[in-house]
Amino acid sequence: MNESSRRVIGYIGIGSNKGDPVQNCVEVVERLSACETIKVLKRSSLYRTEPVGFKDQPWFINAVVEIRTTLGAHALLEILQTIEERMGRVRVEKGGPRVIDLDILLYGERVIQDATLCV
Ligand code: AMP
Repeated sequence: MNESSRRVIGYIGIGSNKGDPVQNCVEVVERLSACETIKVLKRSSLYRTEPVGFKDQPWFINAVVEIRTTLGAHALLEILQTIEERMGRVRVEKGGPRVIDLDILLYGERVIQDATLCV
């Protein structure tokens, strides 16, 4: 199967607890939908969740989207990191408040464990 005919179903976790978290989650879905190589198939409701670990910060808004993509897992990660950067995420404190956090929860049925990706 060549690169362009590969289509993988993936699940992206979205989290935000800085700025306008609801709007940030909505913006992520718009940005993902605007990518030619990503089709957003479904999106969950928005959930309000308590911080884990570093407790002294606002609660998060979380959501999950189901996507279909022709991207490889690492290319998908790069797109997510670009979206995070464009939305103003600055990595300061591990586990601290963030404008946006995007995680690949599932990429097809693949199990990936390397220096940049754990799925
Ligand atoms: P965080 O600051 O918690 O968002 O972690 C970001 C780092 O996690 C990045 O450097 C990624 O390379 C790495 N990472 C490992 N696995 C994943 C994944 N499944 N989804 C997103 N980032 C991942």
